[in-house]
Amino acid sequence: MTTAARKLGAERGPALAHGEFDVQRIRADFPILQKKIRGKPLVYLDNAATSQKPRAVIDALVRYYEESNSNVHRGVHYLSERATEEFEGARRTAQRFLNAASPHEIIFVRGTTEGINLVAHSYGRSHIGAGDEVLITGMEHHSNIVPWQMLCKEKGATLRAAPINDDGELIFEEFAKLLGPKTRLVGITHISNALGTVNPVRKIIELAHSRNVPVLVDGAQAVPHQSVDVQALDCDFYVFSGHKVFGPTGIGVLYGKSALLEAMPPYQGGGDMIRSVTFEKTVYNHLPYKFEAGTPDISGAIGLAAALDYITGIGLDKIAAYEHDVLEYATRAVSAIPGVRLIGTAREKAGVLSFLIGDVHPHDIGTILDQQGIAIRTGHHCSQPVMERFNIPATARASLALYNTKEEIDALVRGIGKVREVFA
Ligand SMILES: *Cc1c(COP(=O)(O)O)cnc(C)c1O
Repeated sequence: MTTAARKLGAERGPALAHGEFDVQRIRADFPILQKKIRGKPLVYLDNAATSQKPRAVIDALVRYYEESNSNVHRGVHYLSERATEEFEGARRTAQRFLNAASPHEIIFVRGTTEGINLVAHSYGRSHIGAGDEVLITGMEHHSNIVPWQMLCKEKGATLRAAPINDDGELIFEEFAKLLGPKTRLVGITHISNALGTVNPVRKIIELAHSRNVPVLVDGAQAVPHQSVDVQALDCDFYVFSGHKVFGPTGIGVLYGKSALLEAMPPYQGGGDMIRSVTFEKTVYNHLPYKFEAGTPDISGAIGLAAALDYITGIGLDKIAAYEHDVLEYATRAVSAIPGVRLIGTAREKAGVLSFLIGDVHPHDIGTILDQQGIAIRTGHHCSQPVMERFNIPATARASLALYNTKEEIDALVRGIGKVREVFA
């Protein structure tokens, strides 16, 4: 590196200082980021809702349909074998990505929501009964609340939620108190989509296991931002959505420890999940197919694998360091604006900046920012209990991905200035 380049790197911040993370090169991989919105360059800060897709993912989808399309696990012909190979290759990619012990522990599902519903239906219905308890936290996404509520209602069980403090952190002592002899399962988000709080999942899993309680981790907001090792975490289930980690919609992963998955009844019945069927008796297929009834989202899995390869190629530790730097910059800049209140100020945070401006309705914030080509999310972010905890109906939320820049944060700050002008 030349002295000039090193100097430039030092000025731009630590993530770029070693020439390791070239955000402009990364941006060039995402066709949609080159778009103008309402005549302004797109500033996409709604990554917690869904992420944009790199060329590598788009190409993988096109290539699959142009060169390999066929049904999997059935045909003896060339294309079916090729599609099966690519689909199963995608499963091994997901296995490596999470460091699961075996590809059989990777179940392809539609996304986080379906993954949690699968566990609630299959594991939940066979292990949770009247008087039992399921323990979650006060910062869960609705998809890690409602399936447990439905299960508890059906079984006469009780759903408990551990409270969070004013910074949006789990109150660990309260969680430990609620983890009692009746608790049969813990469900916890790795990173909160509404607050950005990073939960101490390793510590939570250790405590739950010391009381023989299995733990499901909702990793939807974690996998795009940091490396995850399910064996190091020792979690029992881990779920995430492809579309939030730069892959296609309609595909996601449920990881489960094989001993648990083996003992669980199937979730849906149909083709592919059976070994033999007569009208008297059906013998179920082995893992992971027992949980993958019907034709799967073949292209989705292949696209997801391309996305996981893409971020692994860049390096999740580098992504985490870079995003941390941008989030700190954004937090400083946005909280310095008069009248701005940050919602979610946990010590450990990733990816998310939720805020309010005076008493301006978040919807109006979103609309004015949109006029400047800035995409953020406004509303309750599928986490109404979090809004209730802070006594607010909604927030404006800017959420980051690896391709966001400090210049985009500057644009957000200027946009918030416009909002303040309009509502002065
Ligand atoms: C988005 C999200 C979900 C739901 O994911 P889907 O892709 O809609 O199934 C669940 N939990 C968290 C933390 C999320 O951010």
